[in-house]
Amino acid sequence: MVSDERESLLASARALLEWERELGGMGIPEGTIELPATEPRGDAERSGAAREVTLRLAKLAEEAAACTACRLHEGRTKSVFARGNPSADLAFVGEGPGYHEDQQGVPFVGKAGQLLDRMIRAMGREPDEVYICNVVKCRPPNNRTPKPDEAGVCARFLEAQLDLVRPRVIVALGRCAAENLGLVEPGGRGWRGRWGQWRGIDAMPTYHPAFLLRSPQMKRPVWEDLQQVLARLAR
Ligand code: SF4
Repeated sequence: MVSDERESLLASARALLEWERELGGMGIPEGTIELPATEPRGDAERSGAAREVTLRLAKLAEEAAACTACRLHEGRTKSVFARGNPSADLAFVGEGPGYHEDQQGVPFVGKAGQLLDRMIRAMGREPDEVYICNVVKCRPPNNRTPKPDEAGVCARFLEAQLDLVRPRVIVALGRCAAENLGLVEPGGRGWRGRWGQWRGIDAMPTYHPAFLLRSPQMKRPVWEDLQQVLARLAR
C-alpha cells in the first residue's frame, strides 16, 4: 500500500517535471503534490446506478451525434461527447473540439489534450480517472470560439452529462467554459482562480491548455488553481 502511494507520487513528480521541461517553464511551482483521498470507485462503477449513468450518457452521446440543432453540425466529421470515467469525482470542461478531436470523435486528443493529460498526471491522477468534455460537441469552423447561441443550444448536452456524472469538482478550462458554466460574467476581468459553483458543485475556472501552449509562463497560476482543486478534493 505504502509502495503503491510512493509509486503514485513518483509518477506525479515525473509528470510534473515533464510538463515543466517540455514547455520551457519556470521550474517546479511551490507547494507539494497532494494526493487526495479518493474513494474506491470499483464498487460504485459496478453498481446498478453507475451502469444506469453510463447507459444514459451513451444515449446522450448518440443524440449529440445525430443533432442538427445548431449550425456547427454542418462542418463536423464526428461529434465529440466526452472521455474518461463517468463516476469521476473531478471533471474538466473545455470549449469545443478542434481538428484532431473532430476527426477522432474524442475530446482533447491534440497537443492541448496531451498537455491536459500531463497536467492531470501532475495532479496525481490518470486521465482515464477523470471526466473530460466540452461546451459544444461539434467543431466550430477554424477552431473559433463557440457563439453564445451555439453554446446555448448545446447546453442541454453539457448540463445533462454533468448532472449525470455529478463530480465533486469541475475545472472550467478557459473563459468560454467558465462563462457557459455561469462562473464568470461575459467579458469580466480577473476571471480565473476564483471558486464558483455550478448547480451546487464547486467549480474552478482556469486557463485552457491551448492558451498555455502559447503562453507557458501562465503555467504557474494554473498550477496554483489545480493545487486548490486538489485541496478541495482532499477535504
Ligand atoms: S454543437 Fe451541440 S447543439 Fe450544435 S449541432 Fe452539435 S451537438 Fe447539436
